[in-house]
Amino acid sequence: MVRVRFAPSPTGPLHIGGVRTALYNYFFALKNGGKLILRIEDTDQTRYVEGAEKYIIEGLSWSGIEFDEGPHIGGPFGPYRQSERKEIYFQYAMQLIESGNAYYAFDTAEELDAIRKEYESRKETFQYDCRSRNGLKNSLTLSQEQTKQFLDSGCNYTIRLKVPENTVVEFDDIIRGHVSVKSENIDDKVLFKSDGMPTYHLANIVDDHLMEITHVIRGEEWLPSAPLHVLLYRFLDWQAPLFAHLPLLLKPDGNGKLSKRDGDRMGFPVFPLEWTDPKTGEKSSGYRESGYFHEAFINMLALLGWNPGDEREVMSITEMSNAFSLERVSKSGAKFDPVKARWFNHQYMMKKPIDELASEFTKELKSNGIDPFDTSKMLTITQLLRERADFVKDLPASGVFFFAAPQEYNEADLKKHSTHDSASWLATLSEIFSSTKWTQENIDAAIAGFISNNSIPAGKLYNILRIAVVGSSSGPHLSDILLLLGVEETCKRMNAIISRL
Ligand code: GLU
Repeated sequence: MVRVRFAPSPTGPLHIGGVRTALYNYFFALKNGGKLILRIEDTDQTRYVEGAEKYIIEGLSWSGIEFDEGPHIGGPFGPYRQSERKEIYFQYAMQLIESGNAYYAFDTAEELDAIRKEYESRKETFQYDCRSRNGLKNSLTLSQEQTKQFLDSGCNYTIRLKVPENTVVEFDDIIRGHVSVKSENIDDKVLFKSDGMPTYHLANIVDDHLMEITHVIRGEEWLPSAPLHVLLYRFLDWQAPLFAHLPLLLKPDGNGKLSKRDGDRMGFPVFPLEWTDPKTGEKSSGYRESGYFHEAFINMLALLGWNPGDEREVMSITEMSNAFSLERVSKSGAKFDPVKARWFNHQYMMKKPIDELASEFTKELKSNGIDPFDTSKMLTITQLLRERADFVKDLPASGVFFFAAPQEYNEADLKKHSTHDSASWLATLSEIFSSTKWTQENIDAAIAGFISNNSIPAGKLYNILRIAVVGSSSGPHLSDILLLLGVEETCKRMNAIISRL
């Protein structure tokens, strides 16, 4: 049985890179008939941010990612919040000490700081590892008695992993292939602190083991920790899960990791939902509030680092999960493309059932203080406007002319398209319109007849007529607009521009 997990730390809003990790885990679970678990890794109390867990759950749920187990829904392997599992971890730290694979370290923060500075003065970097540990204050260098004294004194201590000397730690990553690291390059990471809390490394592998996780699919930033995790599994005599480290999401120019700051600086969100920092009150924009459909958001995200192996781009969760495989995830970072993100939203706008879109548009109009038309007209208007818009919130602005006569005309358009005959053309045409039975065919025929009977340059007439009803020379097909406005309103607008001309 495939069991995968998404294991965020509630240290702030969930970055879209995290949503993508959750999404690939979701696809993998769906594809393999497995289970997806949400686990909140909140052992580092100093980094805990109020509201972050709630945000994470809401963001994932808005994205359409469904969990089988988690703190919000329960499950047979709970609790799913590490702070509620505190008692579990200590015994494993003890087991590692007893088997000689971990040790107590009593060096104070000040002492370590001084050593670090000393190394720096020699242009070296200090690492607590197999080379330095023999000269430091720990249960490997102290006698049993001294160690006991330290422990009994209640002083601060840590439990560190004893990384073996002169070995190579190896594992196969599904995406990256064979990974091998010399043990000299792995530091003796802290596994447990005297405040009674495990660190990420210990809690993470204990929970992955106890929750029977089969595949660890996570961001590339965790690749350097993987050899350490492999060692921990070995020392605890547990079978390690399979690893797959996903590529980074990069800035649009490919220069570095897409960061929290990039989004608002470059005008696109990097978070699924809007987030207000509880300390500073600073707001960061979200995809939901920016008007993205959640289907478009995850479709766009899924294709950053993976492709289905054919030309398909617009795909549902079912289509994507059916096509998903970790082997098709790329090794190299994926550049975020804000233009493509809008493009996806437009595609979903075009796919959306027209009645749903029309009712969202109607709501948007009302909140803009505009009185919408009756439902049947709204369906047609929505159909016409969606071709040119990426977001529902852009629809009112792109279609204001349906609801009110232009207050002013685009000067440049007017200058470009008016001639000294424009006014008289419009006057005559409005006469013709007054006696035209108002159907699209008749409108088209009336305009075409007028043009050919009077040898009028077609472009000039169409454009000035469009400016009269829309206010500028853009917008949907002209007779579609005229039909919807009705003959009376059309003629009123034609007469209004005549005085300007
Ligand atoms: N808590 C880690 C994070 O915040 C989890 C990393 C992992 O998946 O192992 O991303």
